[in-house]
Amino acid sequence: MEKEEYKIKTLNENKRMSTQELLQLITAKINEGYTNFDIEACGQHNIGGSSWAKDRDKELVFKITNPGQRAGAMALEKTKIIIEGSAPADVGWLNSGAKIIVKGDCGDTAAHCAAGGKIYVAGRVGTRSGALMKHDPKFTSPEFWVLKNTGSFGFEFMGGGIAVVCGYDCENMLSVLGSRSCVGMVGGIIYVRGPIQDMANCVDIQELCDNDISFLKIGLKEFLSDIERQNIYDELTIWSEWKKIVPLPDEKKEKNISVKEFRENQWIENGIFGDFIRDDYKVYNLAATGNGRLRSPVWENNCIDCKLCINNCPQGAIISQDKVYSSIDEKCIGCGICAAVCPKNCWSLKSNREEIS
Ligand code: SF4
Ligand code: SF4
Repeated sequence: MEKEEYKIKTLNENKRMSTQELLQLITAKINEGYTNFDIEACGQHNIGGSSWAKDRDKELVFKITNPGQRAGAMALEKTKIIIEGSAPADVGWLNSGAKIIVKGDCGDTAAHCAAGGKIYVAGRVGTRSGALMKHDPKFTSPEFWVLKNTGSFGFEFMGGGIAVVCGYDCENMLSVLGSRSCVGMVGGIIYVRGPIQDMANCVDIQELCDNDISFLKIGLKEFLSDIERQNIYDELTIWSEWKKIVPLPDEKKEKNISVKEFRENQWIENGIFGDFIRDDYKVYNLAATGNGRLRSPVWENNCIDCKLCINNCPQGAIISQDKVYSSIDEKCIGCGICAAVCPKNCWSLKSNREEIS
């Protein structure tokens, strides 16, 4: 028999249910056969993620108000999450197939790492949203739709998937993608309507083709219907106002710039903390050597003098004299590469920590 909707109120007589209590209650009710939840949350995290119905063919539906971070994180196929209002950071983090509809704004890093499903946002999203989106071709591409604009540093290191930023209600903005969007983008597509500026130099900004318009025509209908804004369809379908952002092919990218140049000219002027401190651009060696290492290599003579260990040691720590090998403690970081590459198992790694009995 179909179970009715299960309602959860997480604040009762001034007593707040913890995230753990809420998630355990949801799991227990799913195991009883419930599939529809109406959750009056109070900042609890991870609601709606990583669950499936007892009967796997059924859809799980979560209606949520006032969620905490990571609503819908790692959510699966056959999951629908409707957030009535806004949500804080990490909505749909690593979404793996769910449809997540946010009727308000999202905090930072919405759709971060999303790998499947659809995330619809009826308002704005914060900084680093869409970063690290990805697409495994065995599955359908993740989609991330935003009605208004994104904060800065969006779509960093995007590797796949489709993002659509509609630029609605952004008339006075200089850029609907904020600043420094798409740094390190290597895959995927971003459709954007409205002004953009200060983009990373690894992307190409193109006009839409017929396939793009076909995709957007169909997708916008579903998106606007789910966020209950069908009335603005005509306003959003003036295609001359849209652009497509894709990564530049490798051969057109700038090559081999120094860390100093990247930080000064491509990341943020004067470096990420440039407003506060002067950066000397030295790269410090943070891996421990000598007695600070967790382990140190010990050599035993079964050696064929192939020099693989010398040539692969990242620290240049290995020396040989008359075919007797050793590593210099002051240089060695205990990484174990020498032991891994040696064809004769000459190197073993000795722990530098006392055994705890
Ligand atoms: S442990 Fe690492 S750093 Fe040390 S000698 Fe072997 S390869 Fe070099
Ligand atoms: S990798 Fe092994 S066999 Fe080759 S030189 Fe080093 S210790 Fe000898």
